[in-house]
Amino acid sequence: MINAAGRLTALGGVALQPEVVAAMANGARYNVDMKSLKDRAGELIAELTGAEAAMVTTGAAAGICTMVAATVAGTDEVRIRRLPDSDWDPSEIVLMAGHSSYFGAPVTQMIRVGGGRPVLVGDVNMITPGLLRGHLTERTAAFLFVQSHHTAHKGMLSLEQCLAICREKSVPVIVDAAAEEDMEIYVRMGCDLVTYSGGKEFGGPTSGFIAGRKDLIEACRAQEAGIARGMKVGKETILGLLAALEGFKKTDPKVEKGRQLALIEGMEKGLAGLPHTRLTRMPDEAGRAIIRLGLTLDEKALGFTAVALLKGLQGGSPAVVLRGHWASTGTVAIDPRPLVAEDAETVVEQIRRVYDRLGGGSV
Ligand SMILES: *Cc1c(COP(=O)(O)O)cnc(C)c1O
Repeated sequence: MINAAGRLTALGGVALQPEVVAAMANGARYNVDMKSLKDRAGELIAELTGAEAAMVTTGAAAGICTMVAATVAGTDEVRIRRLPDSDWDPSEIVLMAGHSSYFGAPVTQMIRVGGGRPVLVGDVNMITPGLLRGHLTERTAAFLFVQSHHTAHKGMLSLEQCLAICREKSVPVIVDAAAEEDMEIYVRMGCDLVTYSGGKEFGGPTSGFIAGRKDLIEACRAQEAGIARGMKVGKETILGLLAALEGFKKTDPKVEKGRQLALIEGMEKGLAGLPHTRLTRMPDEAGRAIIRLGLTLDEKALGFTAVALLKGLQGGSPAVVLRGHWASTGTVAIDPRPLVAEDAETVVEQIRRVYDRLGGGSV
């Protein structure tokens, strides 16, 4: 299928670059001392992120569980074994109610798997500094900030504000930056731990990593003898992730953005004149440097809905998947990141074909 939706787990993450596949295939053929491979991977990711230390995980969801477990149980062997049944303090993980989101599973469930008790502060569209301050107590193990398009973006406190308040109370700040593309910024801002997906922005295999404070990464690693054992990372994954991260660091973001913009311009031309449809360049909801091409359908005039367009495209040959987050409001979007030039042409052809078939093309 042609993925014009973005970097989505449901579509198998990203198509891997040959050097990533080669690193995985090569690693798969040999035995290694896993501890030294993990140590070395941690050092390399620490260098790439500017953090004191880092570790590889199976994904950002596993990263959240592990970061939570690290702040709740530390390196205490007894507590590591007792998780997720933490019957001690501190075990509360505080987060803004507007950040309690669903990325394919609930963030709060990942907190509970890690032995944390989620404490939501404020409401889905409202919080004040005083409310956050008031919920940070001796029972608080950490504050979780979720940086994502999945969360509320109105009425929330900024990460800077949260960091300042948590610092007053000596509460560690852990960040879910699963789909973010800047692997240094949260460490530089002074967050204690941050987790990313390896298989989203960085073009790696299904994987992830945690970067941050040395003592807390040590506590994260210690969870491998506890809840993180159910999230065991293989040697192939570690080698594939490292190859992807190195490749990502080497690509010039300006060149890549230029490539994406050229694709958008080409598709704008190709789709110009579609009946009852407004083409717009849509900035990313989470503020990342991504421009997507939006199609807003006048559903009444067309006689079919944006949802029907998505379905028609998915049933085509080849199947084309667009970004459908706002389909119920009549808008769908094309994400240029996973596309190569031939794909962009096919996307245009398939959209025109579905319009013709559903009747919009004849207007
Ligand atoms: C994708 C995502 C996750 C889960 O990441 P995986 O690497 O798939 O485990 C967690 N949080 C957010 C905000 C996400 O977008």
